[in-house]
Amino acid sequence: MLNLLDLAPAEAERVLREFAVAHGEKPFRGSQVVPHLWQKPVASFDDMTDLPKAFRELLGQHFAIPRLPLVTEQRSTDGTRKFLFQMADGQSIETVAIPDGERMTLCISSQVGCALQCAFCATGAMGFARNLAVHEIAGQVRELALLSPPVRATNIVFMGMGEPLMNWKAVDPVLTILNDPKGFGIGARHITVSTVGVLPGIVALGQRKEQFRLALSIHAPTDALRATLMPVNTKYPLSDVIRAAAEFERRVTFEYVMLGGVNDLPQHADQLARLAKDCGAFVNLIPLHPGGAMGFTPTSPEAIAKFARRIRGLGVEVAIRKSRGMDIAAACGQLRVERLRRRSPGSAEQDREIEVA
Ligand code: SAH
Repeated sequence: MLNLLDLAPAEAERVLREFAVAHGEKPFRGSQVVPHLWQKPVASFDDMTDLPKAFRELLGQHFAIPRLPLVTEQRSTDGTRKFLFQMADGQSIETVAIPDGERMTLCISSQVGCALQCAFCATGAMGFARNLAVHEIAGQVRELALLSPPVRATNIVFMGMGEPLMNWKAVDPVLTILNDPKGFGIGARHITVSTVGVLPGIVALGQRKEQFRLALSIHAPTDALRATLMPVNTKYPLSDVIRAAAEFERRVTFEYVMLGGVNDLPQHADQLARLAKDCGAFVNLIPLHPGGAMGFTPTSPEAIAKFARRIRGLGVEVAIRKSRGMDIAAACGQLRVERLRRRSPGSAEQDREIEVA
């Protein structure tokens, strides 16, 4: 059975129009299904009430539009909501919804687990299980739109579990579904792909004609320090990542998690500012989410502000990311880690690692 949620809207429409004609219906009957997939999603073919009942039944016999069952949801006092979805094979992934005024940013996952093992990241600690399929990535946005009341994304960041550019085969069509007016219709400038610097993926993203945003997880301004935090630095060294960022035709953002006493010294600010200048990047300083980040302490807010001022003084644009969902462990991978630990209780020691403010 063909899963319509694995297809970009234009492809789904082509298939559905052909299907309609093959079953003695007018082609527009096929087109009528498309808005129900993403734009104004419904839970099942049966809910597509603008279609004749017999045609809905026929659709159900030939196509699938699978749901992602919601396992659990947590709400932060700041309005951030974190969702854990179950996949057909029993794996689970998380999605975070972050309201901010008129904006609703969804932080979505692209893989189950992650192979990259960044030292401070909860997802890295769980290892890599598999890539997500198109419908499992775009389905996170769809599922939230199906809630009542619906949570409608205005912005998307690929900053949940996984490395999106190691799953380009699925992320590429997902970008189309997110941006296409027949999909979610979210402006490309409001869709950010975050990567540790997977070079072929950066090139592929740069070749898309839409203005999708690129965020680079830099986290250390030298190869020596970066290699201790991010093993991937041996495969994709900092200098290559910076070159790729310079060649990327649109503006990039550096992400920099502030790790107390590790990467937050004045010299790091100077080195980071130089790298940002080399490729015209904007610097986003991220307070460390302590959950899951064993052995690291967050830099104090005052020290982060000072670090930011030093960078700004060198002529580089910098912002400090508001930390959201601190009370629900909303950083990369933390919900799933917490859940797995709760299900199979480890030692008290282990449980303490995931306790958050
Ligand atoms: N693999 C991609 C996207 C997922 S992580 C990437 O690394 O860019 C999204 C962002 O969250 C990354 O910048 C990552 O370094 C950051 N992050 C991971 N663990 C964190 C933590 N404990 N506190 C704050 N940010 C964290």
